Amino acid sequence: MGITRRGFLQLTGAAFMTSLVYEFTGQSPAMAAEAGEEWKLVDVSETSTICCYCSGGCGTIISVRDGELINVEGDPDHPINRGGLCSKGSSQFGVNSIYDDESGERIINPNRLTTPMVRRAGQSEWEEVSWDQAFEEIAQRIKTTRDENYETESDGVTVNRCEAIASFGGAALDNEEAYALQKLCRGLGMTYIEHQARI
Ligand code: SF4
Repeated sequence: MGITRRGFLQLTGAAFMTSLVYEFTGQSPAMAAEAGEEWKLVDVSETSTICCYCSGGCGTIISVRDGELINVEGDPDHPINRGGLCSKGSSQFGVNSIYDDESGERIINPNRLTTPMVRRAGQSEWEEVSWDQAFEEIAQRIKTTRDENYETESDGVTVNRCEAIASFGGAALDNEEAYALQKLCRGLGMTYIEHQARI
């Protein structure tokens, strides 16, 4: 594209005038950085973390003021998501807080689970258990089931397997966690190993 001397002077003149207007009307980027007290994110401490919902590992910024969660948003500096969050990631705030249907007030989400839960055979209610108890019970059941069902041979063929336990991985498992889980399952002789593909 050619440009005449006259056109060049017009363009550079327009650019110069635009920068003067920004300077004199206080709309330069430096002025815009002065936050007003009513802004949502004034006086917050920010922590970068990872979205809790899937193994995508999107970076998230958590803003907290006086111990209260103020905001959750995508981290623009994170190489995976560059500030974007999907619909699940965008709703992480709801893990902490919801708005009460009746009062409209923000309240801590009463549905959030903070301990492992177990519903015993024949029971209709869920029971809270400690992490230690949950690990102990799960480990004991795996050992009992494997001991009772481990096969070394089938139809004259060596198999070394346990078909009585299956593993179904969750979407939040990342590569390394899935690798460790695979090791555990294969070590136990399991053959039914599945994984929920993430979105
Ligand atoms: S893809 Fe969505 S759910 Fe998965 S880590 Fe990213 S924001 Fe979270």
